[in-house]
Amino acid sequence: MAVSVNAGLTADCTGLAIDPETRNLLQTRPAFGGNIMATIVTPDHRPQMATVRHKVMKEAEVDPSRTGEVIRVALTADLLSSRTRRLRYVAEETSTVNIAEANILVSGGRGLQKPENFAVIAELAKVLKAGIGASRAAVDANWIAYSHQVGQTGKTVCPKLYIACGISGQIQHLAGMSSAETIVAINRDADAPIFSVATYGVVGDALEIIPKLTAECKKILGR
Ligand SMILES: Cc1cc2nc3c(=O)[nH]c(=O)nc-3n(C[C@H](O)[C@H](O)[C@H](O)COP(=O)(O)OP(=O)(O)OC[C@H]3O[C@@H](n4cnc5c(N)ncnc54)[C@H](O)[C@@H]3O)c2cc1C
Repeated sequence: MAVSVNAGLTADCTGLAIDPETRNLLQTRPAFGGNIMATIVTPDHRPQMATVRHKVMKEAEVDPSRTGEVIRVALTADLLSSRTRRLRYVAEETSTVNIAEANILVSGGRGLQKPENFAVIAELAKVLKAGIGASRAAVDANWIAYSHQVGQTGKTVCPKLYIACGISGQIQHLAGMSSAETIVAINRDADAPIFSVATYGVVGDALEIIPKLTAECKKILGR
């Protein structure tokens, strides 16, 4: 579509803004393997076009007063047939909520220290009926499957509540979760960057704090 209207296209943006003076669209996305965030402008062409990474922006409120015209186009059958064939079905190894759709996520990072400690996170997730997320460090260490990875090279999530346990909050992790409505961070380093995006921060040992939090949630929620 961009080609047909002679526009450029910045794909997979993680942030959009408008320059109030020039009306240029400021299109931000990771570049150079995710090591920098680049802001791209297209000053010479109109329209300006960008696509946005799934879940980085909050859904707009439904506005029933808005109207639009639905144009029905008759398509020929050959346009509707797929060239994709299903060869076989491979079930995912771990059964869990799709983290990109979960309302609550409890995520663990290297600060959990060993794979067995993900059980502590899983217990809290069970009580909160939440999905389980992870940092790339935890995934790279084979503590948990890649499908749980949150961040630039994992999934982008926008839950109502994100609880980050033992996650430092490097930019690549924040790119995948900083639009969450409420962020709770538990980290024993008071200077960890995750606290810069956290709504509530708890400085301390996640392995001591999470079981207490789980017990309290159990009491309150009666689960
Ligand atoms: C191109 C590229 C893409 C990337 N994509 C991603 C991505 O998609 N997702 C992602 O997460 N990362 C990604 N990364 C990696 C990212 O830069 C970090 O290395 C990674 O997020 C660190 O994971 P972590 O926070 O679990 O580990 P660390 O940075 O090692 O942090 C561990 C944290 O745990 C705390 N801690 C330790 N013990 C405890 C305890 N007992 N209780 C509480 N806190 C404790 C420490 O204070 C520390 O803050 C990417 C990197 C690159 C270069």
